[in-house]
Amino acid sequence: MNSSPSSYKHFDLNIDDHSIAWLTIDVAGRSVNVLAQEVMEELGAVVRAAAAASPKGFVFKSGKPRGFIFGADVNEFAGFKTRADIESHIHDVLATFRMIEEMPCPTVILVDGICVGGGFELALAFDRIIAIDDGACQLGFPEINLGLLPGYGGSARAAERMGPEAAMRLVLHGRPMKARDALAAAAMDHLVGGRDELEDAARAAIRGEIAKAVPPTTGDLAAAIEAERGALLARTSPENMPAPFAILDHYSLNDISKNSLLNNETQLFSYLMLTPASAGMRRNFQLTDAVKRAGRGDAAISHVHVIGAGTMGGDIAAVAAMTGYRVTLQDISADAIEAAIVRAGTLYERRLKDPKKVEAAMARLTADPGGDGLATADLLIEAVAENLEIKQAVFADAEKRMKPDAILATNTSAIPLEEIGAALAAPDRLIGMHFFNPVPVLPLVEIVYTDASRPDFVDRAMYVCGAMKKLPIRCKSAPGFLVNRALLPYLFKAIDVMLDGADPDMLDEALVRFGMPMGPIELCDQVGLDVCLGAGQVIGMSDRVEQTLTGMIEAGTLGRKTGSGFYDWDGKKAVRARAAHDGVDLDAVAADLLAPLVAECRDAVAEGVVDSADMADAACIFGVGFPAFRGGPLFWAESRTV
Ligand code: NAD
Repeated sequence: MNSSPSSYKHFDLNIDDHSIAWLTIDVAGRSVNVLAQEVMEELGAVVRAAAAASPKGFVFKSGKPRGFIFGADVNEFAGFKTRADIESHIHDVLATFRMIEEMPCPTVILVDGICVGGGFELALAFDRIIAIDDGACQLGFPEINLGLLPGYGGSARAAERMGPEAAMRLVLHGRPMKARDALAAAAMDHLVGGRDELEDAARAAIRGEIAKAVPPTTGDLAAAIEAERGALLARTSPENMPAPFAILDHYSLNDISKNSLLNNETQLFSYLMLTPASAGMRRNFQLTDAVKRAGRGDAAISHVHVIGAGTMGGDIAAVAAMTGYRVTLQDISADAIEAAIVRAGTLYERRLKDPKKVEAAMARLTADPGGDGLATADLLIEAVAENLEIKQAVFADAEKRMKPDAILATNTSAIPLEEIGAALAAPDRLIGMHFFNPVPVLPLVEIVYTDASRPDFVDRAMYVCGAMKKLPIRCKSAPGFLVNRALLPYLFKAIDVMLDGADPDMLDEALVRFGMPMGPIELCDQVGLDVCLGAGQVIGMSDRVEQTLTGMIEAGTLGRKTGSGFYDWDGKKAVRARAAHDGVDLDAVAADLLAPLVAECRDAVAEGVVDSADMADAACIFGVGFPAFRGGPLFWAESRTV
């Protein structure tokens, strides 16, 4: 190498003896490369310097030990206040990428890990993209998950490289491609076996020995777009989620040449960035990240003992064993244990697929009717019937048989932990781990603590959940914790309004239109009116709602499970008398029904039941199904204009 030392903060530029310019990105102060604005500005300067040297080849690579480029910095997006701000930033970046694209020499980018968002858009500006044949090396556009489309020319350059239909699907679905799939789709040109082969491959590409990949022939773009639009409309609306519809319109333009798509992309990007949906989804991304971080740490736990092998305990045990814990499963019913283990096998076959992994997970899950595992377990999760005396007896026995520093956790939904803990010699060992049904599907776990609970036990329970790939949120012991406290008053309000004469179908339609997976009346039926009543007796409910639920339960109409409740049920489907309703009316109904949910979240934050408004919002998104694109109930209530 014969150039002088690089004076850049995030880059290193070297021109070698063969006049090849090697540009290495190593973003300062970060463990992975992220394209912050400062980095993009410096990229412009360093590419200009490389071009000015008139090299015979230009190679871009990463100096980080893992990952390649993770895209733009999401946190910086909030700084953009106007479309003009956004477009001016994009024009600068596009000018840099064009400079790379128009270099007279061959240009090559060496991808050695995750290459998504802006990273992939940068790659698309090079003549040749070379990657390592490794599962960890992935390429794609996750922008749709933030309510956006790629903004640095990706939608246009991907269409040019891969064909418009494949590009449309990549941009629309946001699922990254493994390196081999990317090669097959012509999203890149060449694979090498390992990192140490990359530079030789770059030299070969500069010598013209590596051809550009040819995209496979595709079908009818218009038909593919219409099929995608139909599937989207069945799930959401352009009002709630403008980005996917905008992407379909983008690829439906009469002129889908690169320049036309580039111009349109910039305009769409600046428009979408300022939509409430994108703000909500970016917040959801940040909340998810914060919750995941809170679950990251060494729990110092290897053996989990679960008592109660029913709906909850069986599935908690299955998920714990699937994620690497040694699990012993106890129940007074041998049949319940047997059924839980069979269910676990089905889950593993579906999720793990590889027979060796299935076998290993099954080997970690042991039936333990006598509770022998108590002696060696680091954590007990109790999920027996919701009855104080039974739970107290289970814990009193377990405490004596367990190691003195083992954590004792209950999955109770409603019994105060303080009452369960009264049966313990050391109530500071007791915490709550409130999983949601179905456990393999729903990510939230409320980690509940009392004034007595040991803080280190609470932290370790958070880490166990993180290792189980769950999203743990810390909650102070209080009726309903956060999720049931927020959810039930909303359900009861809906019943109240219905009793005043509102059409239940209209109420449900209002909330589905708002973005909830299901309306409140249908949800009551789905959960079971007996469960609603039981929870309501803990949380509080109006006499009228209580009498209504009691009457319906006495009549044997408990909801879906009995074939009838507020609706009649046809198997898994509520029979609703559908009618057209006015959108403005529906929006007003949704706001009215959600008011108690928002109020409960505010109170829970004020009372310190959750650590912050962020955590209340996160719990409602992960546990209630509050639409992610609304950013959570408190964020929505603060930012809505009507
Ligand atoms: P379930 O009836 O399906 O299972 C309870 C199991 O506990 C049964 O298999 C029973 O045989 C066993 N059991 C009862 N007494 C026992 C004892 N003394 N020793 C050992 N095993 C005993 O109940 P579930 O729905 O799994 O609920 C369990 C707990 O989880 C309850 O506290 C419930 O409130 C809570 N919870 C339930 C849900 C839900 O949706 N089902 C959601 C969150 C929390």
